[in-house]
Amino acid sequence: MEITQARTWAEVDLAALEHNYRALRSNLEPGCKFVGVVKANAYGHGALPVAKKLETLGAEYLAVACLAEAIELREGGIRTPILILGGTPGELAGELIRYDLTQALFDLSTARAYSQAAVAAGRELKVHIKADTGMGRLGFVGPGRVEDILTACALPGLEAEGLFTHFSDADGSEAYTMAQFTDFLDLRDALAARGRRFSLCHCAASAATLRFPCTHLDMVRPGIALYGHYPDESTVGLDGPGLIPVMTVRTRVAAVRTLPAGACISYGRTKVLGRESRVAVLPIGYADGLHRGLSSRMEVLFPQGRAPILGRVCMDLCMVDVTDLPGVEAGDVAEVFGQALPVEEKSDALGTISYELLTSVAPRVPRLYL
Ligand SMILES: *Cc1c(COP(=O)(O)O)cnc(C)c1O
Repeated sequence: MEITQARTWAEVDLAALEHNYRALRSNLEPGCKFVGVVKANAYGHGALPVAKKLETLGAEYLAVACLAEAIELREGGIRTPILILGGTPGELAGELIRYDLTQALFDLSTARAYSQAAVAAGRELKVHIKADTGMGRLGFVGPGRVEDILTACALPGLEAEGLFTHFSDADGSEAYTMAQFTDFLDLRDALAARGRRFSLCHCAASAATLRFPCTHLDMVRPGIALYGHYPDESTVGLDGPGLIPVMTVRTRVAAVRTLPAGACISYGRTKVLGRESRVAVLPIGYADGLHRGLSSRMEVLFPQGRAPILGRVCMDLCMVDVTDLPGVEAGDVAEVFGQALPVEEKSDALGTISYELLTSVAPRVPRLYL
């Protein structure tokens, strides 16, 4: 079956990915490295095709959330260095070494376990030391952090290549972000004063990459911006050329029926037609990643115009009103979100962010790479 004969599919525009990569890159100082963040199946876009494209484009590093994601890339033939941002238990250190992965390190006991495994294997395990400067998540933290980091870095079998932190509010408070950044630089300098220097210091995800060039340091770690979405209103257009959404979700009309005024649409009868209407049934539902919270509050886009949803999103289907869109019939294709209909309309309506809708697109929705 051709993907475009599928009931619903997601087009992934790799030329748009390239455009976004180049737009971000063009704002970096020469020599600043680029980590393409491809965790969560490349934010729903497909980890391997996206990683291959970024590798071809010359990204110096890739980042994932966990060991399984890293192994998927290595087994798919990716040779670029891969940083695992989340934790990997000490017992799995052997896998990190076998697959030549770089691991975030944020506590001393895990550092000791990694060290033992690396020494036993006669190899070195590359780590990036993570510091918590105000995210309240992972990272060495507190007054003992300099000593702890020095102890970890001195363990045999560990190669401490990087030092990094993560901003919690880079699309919000500049003052808080700069306080985090200053704390990070102080830590870096305190470690350097004790003879411990790192070749890769990094802290900027998409928002800081766009808003605060002073935070780029040796390497930046953009995720969402690569996929063509601004982390927040405050960052729109800061890249210069303008980012292009990479994913477009489309669905093919299953049926169009004319129903009389007074007919009830979908579960719970939340919608009762006020007029005779042409109702298009779309084969996309919450099991495809179209959140049920969008019931009665979203539109899809046909070439003739926008069609509002009628009633609730079902598991596999939803209904839209095409009364005012002449000519829509079974087999026609509507855009659910993407290059013409911003995903942000739907994430705003849900009180969430584009990241969540992109990563929600279900595995049963085939990806079509353009
Ligand atoms: C997810 C993540 C990123 C990328 O964040 P974006 O906002 O998508 O650019 C960078 N660094 C870390 C540690 C992350 O967890």
